[in-house]
Amino acid sequence: MSSYIVLLGGPGSGKGTQAEILVEELGLPQVSTGELFREHLKDGTELGSLAREFMDRGELVPDEVTIGMVRERLARPDCTSGALLDGFPRTIPQAEGLDALLAEMEAELTVVPYIKVNRDTLLQRLAGRWTCRQCSTMYHVVFSPSFKAGICDRCGGQLYQRADDTPETQLRRIDVYFEQTAELIEWYGKKGLLVEIDGEQSIGAVGAELLMAVREQCRT
Ligand code: ADP
Ligand code: AMP
Repeated sequence: MSSYIVLLGGPGSGKGTQAEILVEELGLPQVSTGELFREHLKDGTELGSLAREFMDRGELVPDEVTIGMVRERLARPDCTSGALLDGFPRTIPQAEGLDALLAEMEAELTVVPYIKVNRDTLLQRLAGRWTCRQCSTMYHVVFSPSFKAGICDRCGGQLYQRADDTPETQLRRIDVYFEQTAELIEWYGKKGLLVEIDGEQSIGAVGAELLMAVREQCRT
């Protein structure tokens, strides 16, 4: 049976961190729209330069562009039996777009874990986030530091702070989340797909709760 899972939560709630754990446990590919946009930026594509304008301001990239990129990604062979979507959908039109894409694939969403974290925690987490340039492993200066400052424990790569992790952009991204994305909580709740996870716990505890919820839902 296929499993398409949407990880919902604010910027800094831990979607990327948890996706790393889930991908290994469930053997599903991670589809992160933020990562896909960053790859386009790195490769200097037209889509990348269009996305940059929005990302640098903490705004959402337009729905049609984002849905088009996800359509292409889900059409690749590794997504035929499922995917873990991280950072998508972020608006109701994107959620409708996803339903349509999955219907074309004769598939449907399995579960939408919502990682619930309050606004102050979101800011604290974004402010201390460092990422490996080479393998994208996530660190936090206080909550999850690397063994050697600035160096990735996993691959020895250099850690960097994302260009859109400036204090102004962090605040804007959090506002955009509450204005445009948080309504998806109710939307997926009404569809009976939402499972709320307490995201204020440690990374390990959130991961354990998340895995239990996903396994439970994938079985039914
Ligand atoms: P998102 O993908 O939702 O934007 P990230 O996974 O990038 O969030 O996490 C943001 C930051 O918070 C990272 O620095 C990460 O190490 C840290 N973090 C994630 N989950 C937790 C947690 N449960 N407790 C403390 N820090 C966390
Ligand atoms: P993230 O890596 O999820 O924090 O996303 C970084 C940035 O990429 C966001 O602030 C947006 O500008 C853009 N982005 C990522 N996912 C989406 C999406 N689903 N819709 C629109 N913009 C997105």
